Amino acid sequence: MTLDLIEVKPRLNVKKVVIISIVSVLIIALLCTAIFFGIQHHIKNLSLIENKIAAKSMPTHELFFSDDLKKNSIVDKVSHIYNSDYKRVFLTFDDGPSKSVTIPILDILKQYNVKATFFVLGSNVERYPEVVKRAYQEGHYIGNHGFTHVYQNIYSSPETVLDEYNRAEAAIKNAIGNQNYNSRLFRFPGGTVGGKYAQVKADAVNLLNQNGVAHLDWNALTADSAGLTNVNDMIAYVESTIGNKNSVVILMHDNGTKKENCELLPQLIQELQNRGYVFENIYDLLK
Ligand SMILES: [Zn+2]
Repeated sequence: MTLDLIEVKPRLNVKKVVIISIVSVLIIALLCTAIFFGIQHHIKNLSLIENKIAAKSMPTHELFFSDDLKKNSIVDKVSHIYNSDYKRVFLTFDDGPSKSVTIPILDILKQYNVKATFFVLGSNVERYPEVVKRAYQEGHYIGNHGFTHVYQNIYSSPETVLDEYNRAEAAIKNAIGNQNYNSRLFRFPGGTVGGKYAQVKADAVNLLNQNGVAHLDWNALTADSAGLTNVNDMIAYVESTIGNKNSVVILMHDNGTKKENCELLPQLIQELQNRGYVFENIYDLLK
């Protein structure tokens, strides 16, 4: 009897130990799996957040110009820029960058959370690459205003217009450190309308369009290039050129001699806000 008991007891213990071991192994395996997938999920969430932050802080042109469809659409979209069912305004600055004017203008735009479009001059981009880089990184659209601004060189043929575009574009790519950048947007020095180069300009518009490059003039101006320097006069002038237009493209300049624009800009922004205009740039147009 005693012997039987002694024999039976260890048999029961072995069974128990085996069951407990199996259950323990299963529980540990389950816990490990749960922890593993939990960590994976967390990492995935973190990288999603990182990607979102990166996409938000980088105004990358690849978003817009990744294929031929997008390439063709900028010509189409810019050609309809003056059609809008709400009041919108595009602030555009030509002939920069400069240190003395572009930098204060960038500070003011930041303060008012307004995004503008800068038609930069290739020769100035090479002089002040860091200013262009800042404008780009802060979400402003960097358009192309050619390289030399010397009319007789630029407008000797449609091909020389394209050459000027390409030279300035190369300078922009180097300045912002993105060789994939392509503004696909040219502002003709002096505009496209009239003048003795009118035919060359008209042919150059077609040549640029064939290369997927749009062009943009303006339909309002502060007359800063016509000698107006008094801020109240400039506000009055721009108001008169805006009139009742729903979609407004304002021409201004940010080369080093246009210091009065630093005083004008805050007043102009407030005036346009009071009139119910929404500030947009070319990125908004391409959305
Ligand atoms: Zn110009």
